[in-house]
Amino acid sequence: MTATTFDIINPATEEFLETVELASLAETDTLIARAAAAFETWRKVSPSDRALLLRRFAAAVDADLENLAQLEVRNAGHTIGNARWEAGNARDVINYYSAAPERHFGRQIPVAGGLDVTFHEPLGVVGVIVPWNFPMPIAAWGFAPALAAGNTVVLKPAEITPLTAIRLGELAREAGLPDGVLTIIPGKGSVVGERFVTHPAVRKVVFTGSTQVGKQIMAGCAEQVKRVTLELGGKSANIVFADADLQAAAAAAPGGAFDNAGQDCCARSRILVEKSAYDSFLELLEPAVRAVKVGDPTDESTVMGPLISARQRETVAGFVPSGAPIAFQGEVPEGPGFWFPPTVLAPDSFDDRAVREEIFGPVVVVVPFNDEADAVRIANDTEYGLSGSIWTQDIGRALRVARGVDAGNLSVNSHSSVRYSTPFGGFKQSGLGRELGPDALDSFSEVKNVFIAH
Ligand code: NAD
Repeated sequence: MTATTFDIINPATEEFLETVELASLAETDTLIARAAAAFETWRKVSPSDRALLLRRFAAAVDADLENLAQLEVRNAGHTIGNARWEAGNARDVINYYSAAPERHFGRQIPVAGGLDVTFHEPLGVVGVIVPWNFPMPIAAWGFAPALAAGNTVVLKPAEITPLTAIRLGELAREAGLPDGVLTIIPGKGSVVGERFVTHPAVRKVVFTGSTQVGKQIMAGCAEQVKRVTLELGGKSANIVFADADLQAAAAAAPGGAFDNAGQDCCARSRILVEKSAYDSFLELLEPAVRAVKVGDPTDESTVMGPLISARQRETVAGFVPSGAPIAFQGEVPEGPGFWFPPTVLAPDSFDDRAVREEIFGPVVVVVPFNDEADAVRIANDTEYGLSGSIWTQDIGRALRVARGVDAGNLSVNSHSSVRYSTPFGGFKQSGLGRELGPDALDSFSEVKNVFIAH
């Protein structure tokens, strides 16, 4: 099978950027074989040397931070502020896990007749499949703990956003990671991604993307009882109680829903507001939404850039047909670029598609609720369970609702979801397993128990 190519387009200008070669099946197999060979030496690198190499890798990312950020602005249309945060997050994640090889302790368990100890053994080659919405952070959340645990990694970026992943691969080599330890393989999901699932030398797949593809990956992995971590879609609730600081809740709501133009699996795309505060909240929300500055992502004052592609814009527009219950809408620039305005919908029915389905664009629905129990019921009335927020000044209520909502990442009086030092992942059809945090290495290793007779 011959390699094909993909033309990369700047989503803010629709200008052609460059052509990227997509790996064929045969090329993928060659690179997986090279990663499998590299595993035999990488696993034997002492924990302190593995740590040192990861620290050098983090330093190389830091030195290249502005270049990586500008690359993401051009490739994905992220605002420059967001793109710098994303490159910094990749650096921080590598740094955080550089401390892990020397601290991934086993246990000594008291037993009769001898000594019993556990070891964490690396798995082998880990395949990481990355979506287009946060190319740098999501890549690093997979490869950094996998490498720290002693695995080698093959990583497939999304077809449409491969440029920063390719650069991260170059930086790893420049920092001294041996050949084959971290291999970036641009290619199609149906070719490279699927090969990670079917190739017996790939011992684990880390997939972030749509729930639909995630289910196929999980089913495929079952064939070889292959380890799998899934980070999938979301339809998260932002629950605003009448006793909340409504001003603060309204000011923060656009950020929770429209960051990265809403192309965020953690987007708080359903705002649930207690009935008695519904009207006053909407009054405060309107100016906050109109203030979201949409435009040139290279401009430091821009808050929201374009959608990733014409196709994504079409999908998002499908949720706002003519006659849609638009409460209010922001502005977009004229001319080229895949723009879509920040949009607030106030649907009458819970059956509205916009209430139930993940939109992955800057469209948020506002829904009233009666009381605490009603809020939790509506928040949980979805197959997803990734994140969510609770706005209230009553600490008891905040804790009760946080325990009641079936989601992996909740925040009270903020929209914070992701910190590299805390676990991240979804309930229900939002995923399987957890990334980040102090325990991430456990999901990139097997526990081996050894008994030594006295
Ligand atoms: P997608 O599922 O279409 O693609 C994701 C990745 O999988 C891409 O690299 C793609 O090439 C690859 N892929 C596609 N088909 C494949 C197959 N059959 N086998 C193996 N790999 C395959 O998703 P997308 O459109 O790139 O991303 C958007 C989706 O990702 C949204 O639903 C969003 O919620 C989700 N997402 C989730 C998280 C999270 O952490 N939970 C983070 C970001 C995005």
